[in-house]
Amino acid sequence: MSANSPFRPTLGLLLCKRIMARVASINKIGLRMREILSIVCCLFVLLLCELSVANNLPRNLPVPGGIALVTLPGHSASKTDIPRAYYQKQRVMVVANVTLDSNWLAVVGIPLTTKPGQQTLNIVDHKGKASSVPFQILPKSYREQHLTITNKRQVNPLKQDLERIVREKKEIVAAFGDWHKTSPSFPAFSLPLVGEISSPFGLRRFFNEQPRKPHSGLDIAAAEGTPVYAPAAGIVSVTGNYFFNGNTIIINHSNGLVSMYCHLQTIAVKAGQQVDSGTHIGQVGKTGRVTGPHLHWSVSLNNARVDPGLLFEFEAKGS
Ligand SMILES: [Zn+2]
Repeated sequence: MSANSPFRPTLGLLLCKRIMARVASINKIGLRMREILSIVCCLFVLLLCELSVANNLPRNLPVPGGIALVTLPGHSASKTDIPRAYYQKQRVMVVANVTLDSNWLAVVGIPLTTKPGQQTLNIVDHKGKASSVPFQILPKSYREQHLTITNKRQVNPLKQDLERIVREKKEIVAAFGDWHKTSPSFPAFSLPLVGEISSPFGLRRFFNEQPRKPHSGLDIAAAEGTPVYAPAAGIVSVTGNYFFNGNTIIINHSNGLVSMYCHLQTIAVKAGQQVDSGTHIGQVGKTGRVTGPHLHWSVSLNNARVDPGLLFEFEAKGS
């Protein structure tokens, strides 16, 4: 059985650590002044983080790899009459969001491959009536990252590796596309561990100078063996060892929201297990295609991998 962590790392605490290090490096002001400045900045950041957690919705950033919050038209008579929404044939999370015009909000994950411009959300209301809502995708350019992988087989896999990779990709995509319905709300997320963000989401990647798929998650660097915690409640849908991802856990948080943890040294949970926010799920490792120990953390909405930093009020460094 898993144990709950006594301490849940939050983005606010991570930001405070950074602020204190930055303020400590300012030599123009005295030590006392630096201490006061650190405390004031940290209190402000923690207050903002608490306010953002009170409203669990992710940030609205309608770009490739981002999340669009789209208000659905009309009221329904009952809170249980949730309209269904679809984007690119995938069911989309709909949450309660009472405004003057509407009771419902779609939380739409936008694939990294989406072209900027007008997109369409297809709606079916509780009576079965179909309609559509347009929304705009804005452009975003992501930086390049060039990495050297010493195990050349992980850059140019052998034929038998390719068969394994195709099989594993199907399994992972199926887990990302799995729909578990729960109450229409977006869960609060904490960070799965404390560490430096070593690679932000969306980087256009080159392995040994060969172009490969963009970075579909957030890398958090930490020593091997560092505990990894579930950032929100859910059900473990998949655990296993994969060619690129190494030891991997996928957690289904319901309503199309799924998260994945890769390159682990150990896995402490089993498929089908219910986890809470803060449940210990494994340890940081360097299994699979890596240049050093880190956690690769992916978040998926309606089967689109999105920037995990959008689940927090502040932008992750380098995003
Ligand atoms: Zn990664």
